[in-house]
Amino acid sequence: MDYTNQIREIATRLFTEDKIDVFVGYRMTGFDDNQVPALIRDPKEVSQLVFTDKSVFNLTNYLKNEHTRNKRVGLVVKGCDSRSLNLLLTESQVKRDKLYVIGIACEGVIDEAGNKMQNCMECVVPDAVVYDEMVGTPKGKQGYQVNADIHELASKELVERRAYFEEIFENCIRCNACRHSCPMCYCAKCCIDQETSTLYNGANTKSSAFHALMTWSLHLAGRCVDCRNCEKACPSHLPLHLLHKWNERVIFENFQEHLAGVQEGDRGAFYKYSMQDPNDFIM
Ligand code: SF4
Ligand code: SF4
Ligand code: SF4
Ligand code: SF4
Repeated sequence: MDYTNQIREIATRLFTEDKIDVFVGYRMTGFDDNQVPALIRDPKEVSQLVFTDKSVFNLTNYLKNEHTRNKRVGLVVKGCDSRSLNLLLTESQVKRDKLYVIGIACEGVIDEAGNKMQNCMECVVPDAVVYDEMVGTPKGKQGYQVNADIHELASKELVERRAYFEEIFENCIRCNACRHSCPMCYCAKCCIDQETSTLYNGANTKSSAFHALMTWSLHLAGRCVDCRNCEKACPSHLPLHLLHKWNERVIFENFQEHLAGVQEGDRGAFYKYSMQDPNDFIM
């Protein structure tokens, strides 16, 4: 997957036609073969843009950035990223008429070892669901899969699961990079933030990390699009997807096969209440 030329051509056209103030895409780091997000304001810098299977980050996170607020923004979105864009639109965080969206029909991205990422192996919506123009060949919606690691988690007893998460979250340093890198975490004052939280009182203890991450995952329940921006940002390399994919599976099975952000205007799982919903998971 290499759409570098197409992305550069589109960005050049958008600047030339004075349709955007800033273009949010990817560029090389400059010191290895990985990529970082790029905010391009000068058309002369369009040649920095790239798009390949190393374009891993979800750029919609930059729509909550002051450099893009109230600007006309050109933006590249893969399938998962476009689902978070749909949610940001639905939750009135961004204005559609300020955006020019280049949707990617995504073939999957790879990790630093060159392996296809796990979320891409089980991706349900590879093609962008909101866009002004599409790049690549769409392959359509795929079947929902539950990964082996979630099945393994489900096979544990509740106390065992709790002990498992308590143990791995001991390595959390409460840096909050996970929630800062999540496009769906845009609250000005976050309840799990160490500096401001009365709930956690700034404490960086084993228990505070566990409660913060559990609270965070519940705020993403039915809203997580499985882009794994959070996991890529975590300096402790914690398997945060286990929390989100667990919630995703429970919600998919109990809320009419809900998947976050797939439908435009879809306000989320908890608005899909129906008298026919199973209630065996409710205490
Ligand atoms: S999860 Fe899907 S849309 Fe997102 S990068 Fe992977 S294959 Fe592409
Ligand atoms: S919780 Fe993580 S995987 Fe889910 S939307 Fe946020 S950044 Fe993406
Ligand atoms: S964790 Fe909750 S309160 Fe904090 S930014 Fe995310 S959604 Fe908002
Ligand atoms: S990014 Fe990792 S270490 Fe930092 S708060 Fe989140 S889970 Fe903890």
